[in-house]
Amino acid sequence: MSENSPEKEVVIKKNFIHQIVEEEISAGKNGGVVHTRFPPEPNGYLHIGHAKSICLNFGTAQKFNGITNLRFDDTNPSKEDTEYVDSIMEDVRWLGFDWGDRLFYASDYFDKLFAFALKLIEEGKAYVDDQDAETISSQKGTPTRPGAESPCRNRTVAENVDLFMRMKAGEFDEGKCVLRAKIDMASPNMHMRDPIIYRIMKAPHHRTGDKWCIYPMYDFAHGQCDYWEGITHSICTLEFEVHRPLYDWFVEQLRDTDYRPRQIEFARLNLTYTVMSKRKLLQLVKENYVNGWDDPRMPTISGLRRRGYTPASIRNFSDRIGVTKVDGVIDVALLEHSVREDLNRIAQRVMGVLNPLKVVITNYPEGQVEELDAINNPENPDAGTRKVPFTREIYIEHDDFMENPPRKFFRLSPGKEVRLRYAYYVTCNEVIKDENGEVIELRCTYDPETRGGNSPDGRKVKATLHWVSCTENVKAEVRLYDRLFTDEEPDEHKDIDFKEFLNADSLAVLDNCYIEPFVKDAKALDSFQFERLGYFNVDPDTNAEKIVFNRTAQLRDNWAKVKGK
Ligand code: ATP
Ligand code: MG
Repeated sequence: MSENSPEKEVVIKKNFIHQIVEEEISAGKNGGVVHTRFPPEPNGYLHIGHAKSICLNFGTAQKFNGITNLRFDDTNPSKEDTEYVDSIMEDVRWLGFDWGDRLFYASDYFDKLFAFALKLIEEGKAYVDDQDAETISSQKGTPTRPGAESPCRNRTVAENVDLFMRMKAGEFDEGKCVLRAKIDMASPNMHMRDPIIYRIMKAPHHRTGDKWCIYPMYDFAHGQCDYWEGITHSICTLEFEVHRPLYDWFVEQLRDTDYRPRQIEFARLNLTYTVMSKRKLLQLVKENYVNGWDDPRMPTISGLRRRGYTPASIRNFSDRIGVTKVDGVIDVALLEHSVREDLNRIAQRVMGVLNPLKVVITNYPEGQVEELDAINNPENPDAGTRKVPFTREIYIEHDDFMENPPRKFFRLSPGKEVRLRYAYYVTCNEVIKDENGEVIELRCTYDPETRGGNSPDGRKVKATLHWVSCTENVKAEVRLYDRLFTDEEPDEHKDIDFKEFLNADSLAVLDNCYIEPFVKDAKALDSFQFERLGYFNVDPDTNAEKIVFNRTAQLRDNWAKVKGK
């Protein structure tokens, strides 16, 4: 880590959840057992916000020798799909976490939940309401005004059991009636005002098929599932704080021991220039604003993976942002910093030219191929060296040449000498243009005494350029990405749709790039640093005909600048 590394400025915040768990273990609560769960709803792909929750749930258990369940909260068959289930498992594993044999689904508990609902009815704590949705909602009241009791509230137990069984048997249409918990229509907590716990949905379920036409509400499933699984710490995001009394109420009706899961809420992750809601991400996919859930511009875990993010970079990011009780927005530059930092450590260096300008070295023997030594990774001495072929005709970056340079331009221009990385000093003697006056080729001479890029007479040059041989190379397509949105908080504008802030220039495709031969056997997702240009990885679109690279990140780190603002 260098002296002025921005890393030093990043404060590792204390994780308040770890503090709570530590105190409980010392007090001997739950016999010292720590058992968490990650409970996604399979209605979309996971995003970087979920990664925070995954790292927190699995990470907390790991820290205290505990275990973590993966549980799909699949209570809404109309939005859920096995495609999402599969992608979620792949993403959690890729992040480096393991749920062992503890894979569960809320749907595993449908029988138990149904039996529990019946028990509530029998105890006079639930009733069937056959008013329409609008009427029920109009009776809810406001936070300061109590709700009105439903005329169905005082049905007899027998009547309720009968109606509920007929709901289950499919006798009623969707929306015709619901089952509600009978709690308190005057509670200051709106969630306690006789919440709906079962609804009719005539949709097949991705796991239970046609077995059910009534489904428990998420709120009626979540807390009980935690209880049945023996979860000690139900970690969730802040918006569930107000649901906690309801979850506790259900578990209270159920439990026969002192044990109960403890819910702890934390602030969800928000990132600048990013939308995080699955609903909005689904919209971007469905309406083709991006090329699928794993588009490298998406904040999904699959998008970040395809873009070249490493699991370690995401875990480090998650540690670094810490866990708090206050909603905030994290600068996306910190995420970018995390991947740069990890790739700097591990990425193989190569040279690649994205906007080629041909250079002919007129005093270099025609047909000669020289193998020059190049360092694989200066951060890792064990990574060794490789050979890069040098020839009479090479490509340099178009931007590295200016015919009429301003004073501070030290790269190549007529009469100037520069170093070609790992190769020789070259001097530009002639500029060749096409009929439109565009520079299309340079004629240079090289100094054979400067092999390896060092001058024996101590002659200094002010620039070192990367280059690729015109004959010994791999031709590539390179996809450059910019942020998907032009606004820091695209979904925080009251009257403007977030899609208005989509960045029209978020993807640029360069199809005439040349990379040194080293990459010819690279596999999908392999990462490289293209010297002077940034971090790139091999896109899975690569095939026998063409190799495709994604730019993961530029070399320049904005994070230090951000911290100073
Ligand atoms: P979204 O609001 O993006 O649709 P969600 O909360 O509906 O997400 P779930 O599948 O229910 O998605 O989430 C699974 C877990 O991930 C929950 O415990 C949830 O609290 C957590 N989670 C979701 N979004 C974030 C986020 N942005 N930051 C941290 N945790 C999150
Ligand atoms: Mg949810």
